[in-house]
Amino acid sequence: MAFGSPGQSVDRARLLRAGRLHWFHWLIVALSLVVTVGAWHLSKTQIEEKTALRFERDVAQVIELVTERMQKYEDALWGGVGAIQAHGGYVDVDEWRAYAETLRIDAKYPGINGIGVIHQVAPQDLAAYLGEQRRARPDFEIHPTHAEPEYLPIAYIEPVAGNRRAVGLDIAHESNRYTAARKARDMGVAQITGPIVLVQDAEKTPGFLFYVPYYRGGTHASIEQRRENFLGIVYAPFVVRKLMEGALASHKRFVTMRITDGAETLFDEHVAEEADFDPEPLYAKQVRLDLYGRVWTFDIWSDVSFRASAGNSQPLTILLGGILIDSMLLALFVGLSRANRNAVTLADHATRELQAKTLNLERSNADLEQFAYIASHDLQEPLRMVGNFTQLLQRRYEGRLDDKADQYIGFAVDGVKRMQQLLNELLEYSRIGSQGEDLSPTDTAEVCRHALANLQASMAESAATIDVAPLPLVSGDGGQLTRLFQNLLGNALKFRAPERAVHIRVSAHERDDTWRFEIADNGIGIEPQYRERIFVMFQRLHDRESYPGVGVGLAICKKVVLRHGGELWVESEPGVGSTFYFTLPKAGRSINVVALPARETAHGEPAAEHRKVG
Ligand code: ADP
Repeated sequence: MAFGSPGQSVDRARLLRAGRLHWFHWLIVALSLVVTVGAWHLSKTQIEEKTALRFERDVAQVIELVTERMQKYEDALWGGVGAIQAHGGYVDVDEWRAYAETLRIDAKYPGINGIGVIHQVAPQDLAAYLGEQRRARPDFEIHPTHAEPEYLPIAYIEPVAGNRRAVGLDIAHESNRYTAARKARDMGVAQITGPIVLVQDAEKTPGFLFYVPYYRGGTHASIEQRRENFLGIVYAPFVVRKLMEGALASHKRFVTMRITDGAETLFDEHVAEEADFDPEPLYAKQVRLDLYGRVWTFDIWSDVSFRASAGNSQPLTILLGGILIDSMLLALFVGLSRANRNAVTLADHATRELQAKTLNLERSNADLEQFAYIASHDLQEPLRMVGNFTQLLQRRYEGRLDDKADQYIGFAVDGVKRMQQLLNELLEYSRIGSQGEDLSPTDTAEVCRHALANLQASMAESAATIDVAPLPLVSGDGGQLTRLFQNLLGNALKFRAPERAVHIRVSAHERDDTWRFEIADNGIGIEPQYRERIFVMFQRLHDRESYPGVGVGLAICKKVVLRHGGELWVESEPGVGSTFYFTLPKAGRSINVVALPARETAHGEPAAEHRKVG
């Protein structure tokens, strides 16, 4: 793996990817948002529909109440007509009072100012009429004067208190009052006037008169007959404000209204002074109502109490709750991605450290290997010379000098031989990594035979029994494997127990993609604390006199096995024997060359493959 900026930029890209949210995170958040908005919208729509329906109901109720109320008043007026007819077409002021009292206007007809009678008086009958009325009421006057060809004075109104100004008022003097009266007369039905201000209303607010006509001798089929027999009108004056207060107390409803008749306003709650008025109503509706010859337009608006009762927090709660959950989901995903990025950062860091260490290790191994090679190779020549001359010295001067000199020369010759042996081993060790053959299918049975042939002499000397089980094909370097077998078998022969005949068993056991070999002896065994150390270069457990050797054999074995991607270890019982185990790759398997741990490297054992030295 590369180091430096290109590698780092790749890492940065990976980091960026690791820290980012995946598409499915976004998908989950988006779906959740859609569900939230959907639920909010559904809930909002349902509540809006319900509220709109409620408003419609309220509007219908208002219209119904007004209509009902007017019908009730109409009934009372027709009752008055009935009373007059029952008296033969004329009642005097006392009889009318008696009738009006039975109505109990205050209690049953709130909103009405009173109930009265209007007489039709022809100009020629005026004097007689006044005379008749002044018998009971001397101050009775008809007012004001006008140019119409008839008089329609308000003869009685009960209760008189509060209505006194209306008594004697000639409704023919004013077109609103007069027009409706003639229509009532001609059509024989109840009529109301257009907006007027009642003479008795001190506040001068809009009002109207409600007329019901009566005739001589009951009802009549044609206009002519009605005009002919027309006697007068039973009427009631209304102040619209009072009518509405009586009909529909504002505290009992959730709407405000404005009632207009043509261009004129009869009643208006759409003013800032109204407590419940909502200047921006949630709902508004206009209803036109045909009412006794007039058309009243109702502008009905929902009021503030409607708004308050319509305010449902459910959709908002759903929306906010949903958004909260979505945010938490997002935060969770972001947290996870961050954790992921941190993990990647850590892993990258660790990898980089490992790579740096490996590189260092490889370098120092290469250096060591080179040093070992140079030392062992280049020292051989001068050593050979020293050897030759010391041997020459020995041959020429042995017995000619004193005993001490012979002994010293002997030491020197031995030392040189030993030194040569050491250098040979070292050279061989250093060549394992650099000068081995490529790994190829190798018959370990053949390898073992070869090794034993090389050990003929020691075998004969120790009268050893060697059992070799069938051995497999492995992927290996034949020369190096021969050396491996030879070293291990050689040790098994060398470190024999003097009290018993040598018995060695060689076998192999199949594992997943390796073979595990065993070379078991019945020799002196190895103490547990030395089982690692014996694989380190120059480490020996015995002196040269007891067991010859330089302590490189097992180090070479270990290096060969490692080069083949395998492992080497020993199990042993001191005094009973040792078994050396090693694994080799099956033939045809590619091997994974293992870097040596630093600990062993510290003792000078190179690890890397494919490194040419020299
Ligand atoms: P050498 O054989 O030259 O001493 P090795 O590296 O082959 O060096 O062995 C290192 C040491 O391990 C030996 O000196 C010996 O003490 C111990 N050893 C190796 N093989 C055996 C064995 N089969 N039985 C007992 N001890 C052994």
